[in-house]
Amino acid sequence: LSKKFSKIFQNISQQGRLTEKNIQKTLKKVQYTLLEADVSISVINDLTKILKKKSIGQIINKSLTPGQEFIKIVQTELVNLINSPKKKINFFEKPPVKFLMVGLQGAGKTTSLIKLAYFITKKFKKKILVVSTDTIRPAAIDQLEILSKKSNINFLKSYKSQTPQEIVKIAIKHAIKQLYDILIIDTAGRLHNNEKMMQELQNLQNYIKPTETFFVMDSMTGQDALHSIKNFNNFLKISGIILTKLDSDHRGGIILSIQHTTKIPIKLIGIGEKIQDLQIFCPDRIIKRILGMGDISSLIEDLKINLKKSTIQKIEKKIKSGKNFNLNDFLIQIKQIKKIGGIEFLKNKLPLNTQMINQNMYNFNEETLKKMEAMILSMTPIEKEFPKILNYSRKIRISSGSGITIQEMNSYLKQFKNIQRLMKTAKKKGFNTLFKNFTN
Ligand code: GDP
Ligand code: MG
Repeated sequence: LSKKFSKIFQNISQQGRLTEKNIQKTLKKVQYTLLEADVSISVINDLTKILKKKSIGQIINKSLTPGQEFIKIVQTELVNLINSPKKKINFFEKPPVKFLMVGLQGAGKTTSLIKLAYFITKKFKKKILVVSTDTIRPAAIDQLEILSKKSNINFLKSYKSQTPQEIVKIAIKHAIKQLYDILIIDTAGRLHNNEKMMQELQNLQNYIKPTETFFVMDSMTGQDALHSIKNFNNFLKISGIILTKLDSDHRGGIILSIQHTTKIPIKLIGIGEKIQDLQIFCPDRIIKRILGMGDISSLIEDLKINLKKSTIQKIEKKIKSGKNFNLNDFLIQIKQIKKIGGIEFLKNKLPLNTQMINQNMYNFNEETLKKMEAMILSMTPIEKEFPKILNYSRKIRISSGSGITIQEMNSYLKQFKNIQRLMKTAKKKGFNTLFKNFTN
């Protein structure tokens, strides 16, 4: 999703002024992209209306940089869409404050429970007790016990022979006696259409009267999960959502739909399997992540200031002409990267693409940039044009000229080959500068 968004915004940013016509075009693209990202139609329709209204207003204001203005509007409206004044976790009631974890099987209830206990212990120094009422799944109680022990969290043993209500009764008593601040109660996963199990959960909630009832939801399950949460909410009062497995969901659209369709605030997000992989839900950060733009508007500004159009055009022409992308071009790119502040600068500006940068050919730092430059400067024109001819004796010569080892040289040449390959793809797709490699 983020890749597509950056592309859309890139396009609009390159247009000098935003007209009603090119808003239409960009809006269409935004709509398609959201649709593909599993955002429901009603959300998209509402959002489109707002975007249209606000961005046309911007034209009347004769904004100096309409492209950026539009990006900002999209960003703000998306944040508004998922923001809720009630997104804070409430544990400021008379102790022991009770939290209840509910949701479908495999959603991540038990894992999130432990993460949450760990999070609150670390951050707020509260005394926490955890207990499982999952008497249905084999070894569910053991799972919580093992996870608790591993993270030094106080666990109260329960037994399959007990009813959930019996377990809770004992746990609350224990928590009061031992002066626990918070008691977190795990439940068995269940389907919203299992009337009997839902009834049981309803009774349990009535008995516990928890401060927070968290619906734990797997972000990968998409629109289906929205039905289940609505149905859960018919039986129970859900006070917040913990959205899990966001680390493996690259679409992210579900986030936009949840708040809009259910009005239930997302309070926490799970972003991995490890104990520390739980975060307070922060709409601003998430939207930036979904949009994949980091601080893309300011990056665009920086690029405008720092890049000479003629250089970009030269490379673009070269790519379009189908001529081989050679080490000379590579050198120009290296210089451009240096000019705008180096790799670290790009990484900071585009946090999301760091992963891509690391995975691909730009897996080098300022130091290697310098070395690559030295290496290329020590080559003859023929070598720069056709690096294939670089045999051992040529490499020795370059090595003594540039001071880099042959091993380093081989690794740089390999990276260059990767870029060359990328440029061939780029030619097909028609994007024109190196910098788009970072944002596409
Ligand atoms: P429960 O049935 O709802 O209690 O689900 P579990 O807590 O047992 O989790 C089911 C699986 O999902 C486990 O393998 C967890 O490690 C995994 N899981 C839970 N949360 C996350 C998350 O945020 N990211 C990833 N990658 N895996 C998660
Ligand atoms: Mg469980």
